[in-house]
Amino acid sequence: MAATFSLLAITLLAQAAPAQRPEDTEVWQPEPPVVVVAPTPSVPAPADALVLFDGKNLDQWTSTKDKGAARWTVRDGVLTVLKGTGNIETKRKFGNYQLHIEWRVPANITGTGQARGNSGLFLASTGDGDAGYELQIMDSYRNKTYVNGQAGAIYKQIVPLANPTRAPGEWQSYDVIWTAPVFAADGSVTSPAYATVLFNGVLVQNHVALKGETRYIGAPVYKAHGPAAIKLQDHGDPSAPISFRSIWIRDLK
Ligand code: MG
Repeated sequence: MAATFSLLAITLLAQAAPAQRPEDTEVWQPEPPVVVVAPTPSVPAPADALVLFDGKNLDQWTSTKDKGAARWTVRDGVLTVLKGTGNIETKRKFGNYQLHIEWRVPANITGTGQARGNSGLFLASTGDGDAGYELQIMDSYRNKTYVNGQAGAIYKQIVPLANPTRAPGEWQSYDVIWTAPVFAADGSVTSPAYATVLFNGVLVQNHVALKGETRYIGAPVYKAHGPAAIKLQDHGDPSAPISFRSIWIRDLK
């Protein structure tokens, strides 16, 4: 009898709260239009920017998981993910800002879908691991995946307006205008986060309001936070690591 009741309880619970799967928050159609963009030179920091990576060292960065030294590789003016060492984030914290970052998928990239040059730019890091708001970085050049997870997407939240991804081996750029969310004393959202993103000079996010922090499973959720680090993702997929250069930021009021 008890077993019967338990089974009934489990059944009712399952109906009330169906198990959530990663696939439930994937969007596959329609695909953003492909926009071909010619390569451009690196964009240097303007005079009033804080340079986060100038090709020489990781002085502005720390390891997310232990706040020790960031262990990614710096060579020939380029920063490359050292797989298995975890995410890195800025020592400084930011509110509203303008950010420039250049990234490159290696020419010899392998894998498909999300397992192909996956990294990410967390527009505000709110904790360990992948906590925060992720602007997806991956190879989206002729590489099909769910459209709210391709390069230029606010991951699993907002599909990019276009796909201007250059071929692997070419440098790509993001220019981001971030308006940090504002929270009331009780933790409720006074004003959501807003993001504008240009991807290789093409507008892909036009002052979009975020629904909360990125979730791999389930809906985005806000939890109150203050100024936050900028974080780069060491994704666990087995494809070759991606690289970065010319990362700079301007504080905005
Ligand atoms: Mg990612």
